[in-house]
Formats: sequence, C-alpha cells, structure tokens
Amino acid sequence: MRYISTRGQAPALNFEDVLLAGLATDGGLYVPENLPRFTQEEIASWAGLPYHELAFRVMRPFVTGSIPDADFKKILEETYGVFAHNAVAPLRQLNGNEWVLELFHGPTLAFKDFALQLLGRLLDYVLEKRGERVVIVGATSGDTGSAAIEGCKHCENVDIFILHPHNRVSEVQRRQMTTIFGENIHNIAIEGNFDDCQEMVKASFADQGFLKGTRLVAVNSINWARIMAQIVYYFHAALQLGGPARSVAFSVPTGNFGDIFAGYLARNMGLPINQLIVATNRNDILHRFMSGNQYVKETLHATLSPSMDIMVSSNFERLLFDLHGRNGEAIAGLMDSFKQGGGFSVEQERWTEARKLFDSLAVDDAQTCETIAEVYEQTGEVLDPHTAIGVKAARECRRSLDIPMVILGTAHPVKFPDAVEKAGVGKALELPVHLSDLFEREERCTVLPNDLKAVQAFVSQHGNRGKPL
Ligand SMILES: *Cc1c(COP(=O)(O)O)cnc(C)c1O
Repeated sequence: MRYISTRGQAPALNFEDVLLAGLATDGGLYVPENLPRFTQEEIASWAGLPYHELAFRVMRPFVTGSIPDADFKKILEETYGVFAHNAVAPLRQLNGNEWVLELFHGPTLAFKDFALQLLGRLLDYVLEKRGERVVIVGATSGDTGSAAIEGCKHCENVDIFILHPHNRVSEVQRRQMTTIFGENIHNIAIEGNFDDCQEMVKASFADQGFLKGTRLVAVNSINWARIMAQIVYYFHAALQLGGPARSVAFSVPTGNFGDIFAGYLARNMGLPINQLIVATNRNDILHRFMSGNQYVKETLHATLSPSMDIMVSSNFERLLFDLHGRNGEAIAGLMDSFKQGGGFSVEQERWTEARKLFDSLAVDDAQTCETIAEVYEQTGEVLDPHTAIGVKAARECRRSLDIPMVILGTAHPVKFPDAVEKAGVGKALELPVHLSDLFEREERCTVLPNDLKAVQAFVSQHGNRGKPL
C-alpha cells in the first residue's frame, strides 16, 4: 500500500514511512493511494469474529508490504487484549433502535486508546526492525496525552514528551498522565495555554536541530495509523446490528474530524452506512460547513466537552481532498486562502455531494447537560458530555427510524465529573478497578516556562531513555 499527500507535492510513502512521518513535506496529510474495498460476502463472513481478528481483516491491506501477517496478528491480539471489556467495544441499547458504542474500556477511558495502544506497538515493531530510536513530542488538552503515554510506556525505542498547559487540565486527566512512570516518559507542564503547547510542537517539527538527528514522530490524529485503527469499530458495530445486509447510521462527537473520517472510509471500503452525523459543541466550524458551506475560523470557546474544543479541524483536509477529485493543487489553494484568514466555501456540487452522507448539529453546554439528565432518566445510563452531544445530534438529525443509529461513546463519564454534576445526575461515579487508587498515586511532572528553547533543551537533555540525545 502506498500513501499520497493531500497537497500533491510530497513523495508517496509506504506504510512504515507514513507511520514515522508527521505532516507531508508539502504541508498536506497522507491518505492511501487506493482504498481497499471489501465485498458484502466478505464483510458478512466476519460476523462473530473476536475484535482483534476483525481488526486484522480490516487493516491488513493498509500494512501489506510492511508488516508480515503473523506479526501483525500478534500485535493486534496484544493491543486489544489490554481492554477491560471482553467485547472490547460493546454496544449498549438506549432506545428501540438507538445504541451507544462504548469506546471507553481502554486503559485511559477514552476512544483514543483504540489507536494509540496500536500506534505504540507498531512504532516499536518498526523501529526494532530498523535499529532506530525516535522521540515523540505531543501537546494535549486532555485525552490524547494519557492515551499516548499509555500506548508508548513499554516502547523500547521511543521517548515520549507530552506538553500540557499547567493547571489547565482536569485532575483526573493530569493524574492519568503524571502517575505513569518510565525512563522514557516525560510529562511537561507549560506555564501557558494549550495553544502555546501546540505551537511549540509545531515549531519543533519545523526545526529539528535540537534533536541531533533523532527522528520526531507525531501522535496527533494527523498520523495515518490512528485513523486506520478507528475504521475497525465501524465494521464491528455494523456487524452486530445486521450489517452488511442492513445499513447503519452513526453519530460521532467530533473535534478534529479524525474519528468520523474513519467512518467515512469504512463506508468507502464497502460497509453500508447511510448517514454520518457530525456532532460538535459550540466550537462548530464543521457544523457551519455542513449546514451552510462556510469553513471559517472563529474564536475558541471553553466548553464542558473540552476534547472537542478546537478552532480548525485538522483532518477535514482529508475529506476535502476526496470532494475535489483528489486534486492536490486545489487543496493547496484552499488551505492557503484559509491560512491567510479568508476561510472558504466549496463549489455547490461538491458541498451537495458531502451532504448526501453527512449531517451535523452544534450542541451547547446547556443542551449537553439536558441530554445527560434526559438519558439518565430514561435509561439509568450516565453519559459523558462528549457522548451526550452525539446523542443529542442523533436525535435531532436522524433520517430514518428503521435504520439502527449508533452513537460513538467516546469517553467514560468519570473523566468529566463537572459536566455530570452540572447535569444534576446524583449517581456517584466510580473509577474502574485499574484506576481506583489514581488519587493516591505519586505524580511526576516537570514545570517549564512558556519558552520554546527551554522545552527543546529539556528534550535534548532527556531524549534517550532519560539521558542526553
Ligand atoms: C478526541 C476526542 C473527541 C474528538 O475526536 P476527533 O477525532 O478529534 O474528532 C471526542 N470525544 C472525546 C472524548 C475525545 O477524546
């Protein structure tokens, strides 16, 4: 399998190189040159497979030529073996034909574990083979950091540095990062905000001199392997609800458009999906595009669903690329005008094409709390605020009551106690067994000033299993 850039100018890469790449050299994102397509018979034959075996069948074409089958199978069995639920991604019924796909049974209680548990293992496998080491520098406003650290903690060939804004992540989120120890794990609290952290990561990719030749790897959802891993659970859910003989709809709490883009790919690979709902919070750039063909940046709002607090959606470029007939030049042009502050609309027929599959809704904090309360009253289930936004959007935008509606349950409610409390749900939430002593654990974290040079000096001092690069 070869991968090409959405801006058409960077060299095509194989899976191994795309795994180790961040942005393409032309500023674009990598996508498969040709998407695999499965027949209905083939998909139907996967019913009842354990999650890791389904994962093998769905992802195999993407890694062909880079990872032998037997090794890939072993990696997948290990990856999904760490999930705390036998079904890995169980479906829970809310109403008649409405389901929540629980993606929060991984080590850090959010869906990001599906991709980052795999990414850590794939990196180590590929690096071992090459005899290389890499450094990861990532920024987090919450869920990505802990999932990335959990995914990489056993990696022999990776040192991971996660930057979070000092005193601006929730205590559960902070402790999920700072209580994991290892000579290759480095938590840095920056005296600044999330944007400051993200800027430092971008600047480090742009100028890598401080790494003394060690490769820098991206763990945010621009990394293709993360998207790839998320395709699997769309198949997993559909197969349990009568697919592929029957069509299924999905509502996806959305920020950077990574998770829902995986659903779009599942459909293009042959899975009958009749509707994908983009569920956003008040940071609604994607809803403004889907409802009015305007892709324009606005100011950032802090919400009760912080993992979706974004101004721009990095993976949206991957959809735009397809909407424009995979014309890299056109995408480079759009992105240029966006960068210059203009924002953009796409031609009417391209937008109409997108709207055949996608619907959208923006849900504010008050509606989020109302939905948590409503679902609790109806079913006794406590939703996290991100999932609640998915449920609200599903109920507002649903096209057919005959088609099963699956809402992606992106996080465990215990990670977001403020929202649950604001919703007036009195039920005490308990941390799962593997985290029950989280508040008693020792923490390790270095506080650094909001200064790129200080951060880069820290990385080069500690980037080789805690020793200087
Ligand atoms: C990351 C995250 C999202 C948003 O996913 P994208 O792939 O960025 O659209 C939604 N909910 C939770 C809980 C998350 O951690």
